[in-house]
Amino acid sequence: MIQIKIAVIDADLIGRKSHRFPNLVIMKLSGYYKELGDDVELKLDYENLDQYDKVFISKVFTDTPIDEKILELPNVEYGGTGFFFDKAPDLPYEIEHHMPDYHLYDEWVYKQIESGRKRNEFKEYLDYSIGFITRGCFRKCGFCVNKKYDKVFKHSSLEEFYDPTRKKICLLDDNFFGCREWKSLLEQLQSTGKPFKFKQGMDERLLTDEKCKILFGSRYDGAYTFAFDNIEDAELIEKKLLLIRKYTNKIPMFYVLCGFDNNGKYEEDFWKQDIIDTFERIRILMKYHCLPYIMRFNKYKESPHRGIYINLARWCNQPNFFKKKSFHEFCTMKEHINGATYRYYNEFKKQYNLQEYFNMKWEK
Ligand code: SF4
Repeated sequence: MIQIKIAVIDADLIGRKSHRFPNLVIMKLSGYYKELGDDVELKLDYENLDQYDKVFISKVFTDTPIDEKILELPNVEYGGTGFFFDKAPDLPYEIEHHMPDYHLYDEWVYKQIESGRKRNEFKEYLDYSIGFITRGCFRKCGFCVNKKYDKVFKHSSLEEFYDPTRKKICLLDDNFFGCREWKSLLEQLQSTGKPFKFKQGMDERLLTDEKCKILFGSRYDGAYTFAFDNIEDAELIEKKLLLIRKYTNKIPMFYVLCGFDNNGKYEEDFWKQDIIDTFERIRILMKYHCLPYIMRFNKYKESPHRGIYINLARWCNQPNFFKKKSFHEFCTMKEHINGATYRYYNEFKKQYNLQEYFNMKWEK
């Protein structure tokens, strides 16, 4: 059999400075072609691509830069949400369901560590089995890439991507608890004895007593992570927070999306209301001792309150500050007095009197 020379390229690794998560597609491609006996290389630039029989480029983020001319080369194939958003074509079945090559990034990772970076930054490359046991979501949130399917369904059996030599399991499922078979799948995960986590944030609105009992009784890796993206869900989210508190004292984290207008208008009224809604979600989460993690939709940069979005993210996304200081205390810290954080806060405060939100505190 003729051995062919293949380059696989993780465009996010090349184009984003702080990107630290392996690309599952190129790991599967590598696993598949190596098993066929081909020569596969993780390529870290776009030079001399004509020296390869095939070049596969994958990217997850739409704003990762790449020269369009490269995509026109005859030996190049490319794919992923970064190129096609919600219309990304599926991988061929035999590749999609192939064991990922967990050693594809080894050389690159070891070089990073040798150059002084901390091992922990690369834990997902070194310690985790990674995959989807379910796929799809029925909610179709306007800002989300997962619009391809109308339901959640079983996707891969655990054996397809579980490597028992790896310490932990990382699931990339879109909305695991929306799957009818969630219970048997969760039990399979538990039976490995390994800590596992759902990377994308779970759908808290779907929790029930039975789900909570099993989930919070599991060996979970790190903080339980959910999402609270829409203020209209406040009542339901709060009801489920009460439920969570029946089963665990741990501190869950909630992604809090802001700066996204469902109506696509982004007018002055929206920006003001969005800040208020974000504070309100933070208030609710604080009340139940949960940590908000602010996710800013890119449009926030066009907001007249851009600086307040930045301040909110700086405050919430650093739990050491969030747990000790109110928003007011954070923005007026000695270190901030002559800086942008203080200025943004004061400018906003002059326009909008949200004292109750500015002064709320975790400890209280
Ligand atoms: S619930 Fe989550 S996965 Fe589903 S569409 Fe909304 S953001 Fe996407």
